[in-house]
Amino acid sequence: MEPSDWSKEPSQVIDENAICVAMIALDESRELIVTACNDRFFQLTGRADAGLQIFPVAFDALLASSAPRGFRKKLFACFASGRPPEPEQTHDFREGSQWWRFSLKPIRHGDGSSAREVLVTGFDMTAKIDRPQEPEVDASRYRALVDLAYDAIVTMDEQHNITLFNRAAENLFGFSSAEVLGRPVVTLLPERFRTHHPRKVQQFADSYQPVQRQATPPRMDQSNSVYGQHRDGSIIPVEIAVSKIERNGATEFMAVVRDISDRARLMTLLKAQAKTDVLTGLPNRREFLEFVERVLATSDGLSVFILDVDFFKEINDRRGHDAGDEVLRVLAKVGTSMADGPGLFARWGGEEFVAALPGADTHLAYALANELRRRYERQDFEHAWHSEPIPFTVSIGVATREAGEVDVDALMKRADRALYRAKQSGRNRVEIG
Ligand code: GH3
Ligand code: MG
Ligand code: MG
Repeated sequence: MEPSDWSKEPSQVIDENAICVAMIALDESRELIVTACNDRFFQLTGRADAGLQIFPVAFDALLASSAPRGFRKKLFACFASGRPPEPEQTHDFREGSQWWRFSLKPIRHGDGSSAREVLVTGFDMTAKIDRPQEPEVDASRYRALVDLAYDAIVTMDEQHNITLFNRAAENLFGFSSAEVLGRPVVTLLPERFRTHHPRKVQQFADSYQPVQRQATPPRMDQSNSVYGQHRDGSIIPVEIAVSKIERNGATEFMAVVRDISDRARLMTLLKAQAKTDVLTGLPNRREFLEFVERVLATSDGLSVFILDVDFFKEINDRRGHDAGDEVLRVLAKVGTSMADGPGLFARWGGEEFVAALPGADTHLAYALANELRRRYERQDFEHAWHSEPIPFTVSIGVATREAGEVDVDALMKRADRALYRAKQSGRNRVEIG
């Protein structure tokens, strides 16, 4: 209605807008009676002549032939509950030629919970709804949109049973929609998350506040490490956004599930790369320092050593940089096999390498370092050189953790000083710091 309509008589507005109004009550024998109505309501019933009758008029006498059963039922339900039914019910009067949208307003008298009368207002929708199947068309259109969605969409009812499973969900989880509809949503979760899932959903439902204009929809799990399970049992890392939907008076949950396997793989790769030296595949300096710091945080014994290739510049100069690279790779492989077990062999940078030997005292660390030095010197290891074998030697400085020592820099400095002495003393030797 336009605001200007307010200047008109109410009855004029009602008639111009094709509004029918009726007041319905129940008589002593609990039959529906029309206690008042306008002409439109009579026209709707097809009994325009009934207007000549005196109210009250038996509802069935007016509408027996044309009133849809659903409408009668709604009226009775409204009397019984005293509450208005779902708004905007559309009803077909007269076999599809007349479509009306009704609202029922129960009128109570006094404190009683049941309604004494029901005010019926109806709008003629015939011009707007010329296709009675419209709601179904809408549903299939909705379904088509949901299926087009790139992300998996899964909805579940209050009992946590799946009520909708779109095509992307079928692809992601490997189940067909028909297989999972009506089944518990935990079917889609790895075993270890199943027990706690209902509680999590409850917590989410209790805390859920639909927030307008929120940049991202609320997540069910802020930690972002959520997993689904494929039909074949494989675990799928996913990102999930859940909304709570009230539908037909019931609560449903809609989850938009995004497969982040690719991202998870990339993150794992990047994390590994951040800790790894590209040339040799060894842990890098950062990883080594973290390892040593973890040991220093305990009371365990620890020895470290720094190893530096002797006259490495000459190898590069004489045989080329690629040959130098190969020496570093060969050295790395042999060193790793030495530090097998609890130890760690890492690239410190350039042609310098380090080892951390948890639990090793100076004596053992020296023995291990010297054994390694000799293996390099004699080329006492299996390796297929790309080129002809390149002889090289190394100098090593060993340092051992003092009781209660926690400073990694101090420990490495002692090892470095020992290395310097090894170089000063003629190279191809091990010194203790
Ligand atoms: P010293 O016995 O005193 O250690 O002599 P050195 O020649 O090994 O000494 P220096 O530290 O001066 O030389 C190290 C050389 O290692 C310099 C640098 O070009 C080379 N180098 C560093 N990183 C790499 C690498 O990744 N690959 C190759 N091929 N060479 C590298
Ligand atoms: Mg050096
Ligand atoms: Mg060197």
